[in-house]
Amino acid sequence: MVKDQITKRIGIFGSTGSIGKQALEVIDANKDKFSVEILTAQSNEELLIKQALHFNPNIVVIGDEKKYSKVKEALSPKLIKVFTGEKALEDVAAMDTYDVMVAAIVGFAGLKPTIKAIENGKTIALANKETLVVAGDIIMKKAVEKRAPIIPVDSEHSAIFQCLVGETRNRIEKIILTASGGPFLGKKPNFLVNVKRDHALQHPNWNMGAKITVDSATLMNKGLEMIEARWLFNVKPEQVQVVIHPQSIIHSLIQFEDGSIKAQMGLPDMKLPIQYALAFPQRIANNFPRYDFKKPNTLTFEEPDTKTFRNLVLATDALFKGGNVPCVLNAANEIAVYAFLRNRIGFLDMTDLVERTMQHVPFVEQPSMEEYFESDGEARNFAASLIKL
Ligand code: NAD
Ligand code: MG
Repeated sequence: MVKDQITKRIGIFGSTGSIGKQALEVIDANKDKFSVEILTAQSNEELLIKQALHFNPNIVVIGDEKKYSKVKEALSPKLIKVFTGEKALEDVAAMDTYDVMVAAIVGFAGLKPTIKAIENGKTIALANKETLVVAGDIIMKKAVEKRAPIIPVDSEHSAIFQCLVGETRNRIEKIILTASGGPFLGKKPNFLVNVKRDHALQHPNWNMGAKITVDSATLMNKGLEMIEARWLFNVKPEQVQVVIHPQSIIHSLIQFEDGSIKAQMGLPDMKLPIQYALAFPQRIANNFPRYDFKKPNTLTFEEPDTKTFRNLVLATDALFKGGNVPCVLNAANEIAVYAFLRNRIGFLDMTDLVERTMQHVPFVEQPSMEEYFESDGEARNFAASLIKL
């Protein structure tokens, strides 16, 4: 088929992270289908150089300006263009030499380059859920206006997306996001109060970057994903539900108005949703391990413990209130998680910090992009002020 021959030019924003590295593995295994045009990283210049020498992109961006000359020197024999700084990330995202952005930067920092890519009609393979949490209404409108398809990489949303293929005319009754429950499933506050960074960084089913691993342990990740789902699939807040499924085999489910439920299943491996997003609408054969129904398996489902994992309550509140509240939740959470990772605050303090920040920042019902940036800054400043020195 002719379709198979097309090479998509990929820009990986956040190539040294967990998602970025796995995206490069997928590309390496499918060189006939994908080529690497752009690689970006914040500070891991060693890995960025190694990746660039292997994949030979046209452009590389290193965020940390102190590392620019080292990267430039290493890549100049290959004639790879090297840029640095936050602004460069946006300029490069706007270039017309690539087709698909893998949005794999972590946190709010991913927002501006992703907006630039949407404005320039790129296809977005979206891992950076924070983009939709912060400004989902504006982002989705822009994506439609600029005809920039957003294909989710987040495994739950990829599952829903896959279940929706061929269902465009059918009404969604409910989206059911599965959550592994993280490393502290079943634990109570008297245990969580003593949890330290290293313990929280051990996730039972997924190997991910530090921030999302902590978010999974506090269930904030699932809260962010509820907001992400609301915007991606254009549903009402009350149509999004979370169920704990510790085995992470069913990646999420969708219930249609006739009560029929579709689920997408498979072993937990982010390469699968990454590959699906890159190759969409095609599927590509691979030799990833398969789920085996012959082995003894039990798939279980339970209600989340929202009394213990209050982040889910805060995120649900943000989802229903809308406006700038999800943006404030996200900003406070980023400050909280990085403070926890530096052993500055305890595990349960993260939730308190987010809650107090949500109470502090004034409500804006329909923020402009500038107002989202203001709310983000205000929330960060306030949350940081709550952390004792
Ligand atoms: P990570 O921490 O492993 O990698 C983050 C990447 O972003 C790195 O390449 C880093 O250089 C870059 N980066 C960090 N700060 C930056 C900044 N200020 N400016 C520019 N670049 C910066 O993170 P990850 O686990 O790969 O997650 C990336 C995104 O994907 C997150 O939004 C996360 O929620 C989402 N996601 C990750 C997974 C997973 O399995 N890791 C699954 C679903 C969704
Ligand atoms: Mg997920």
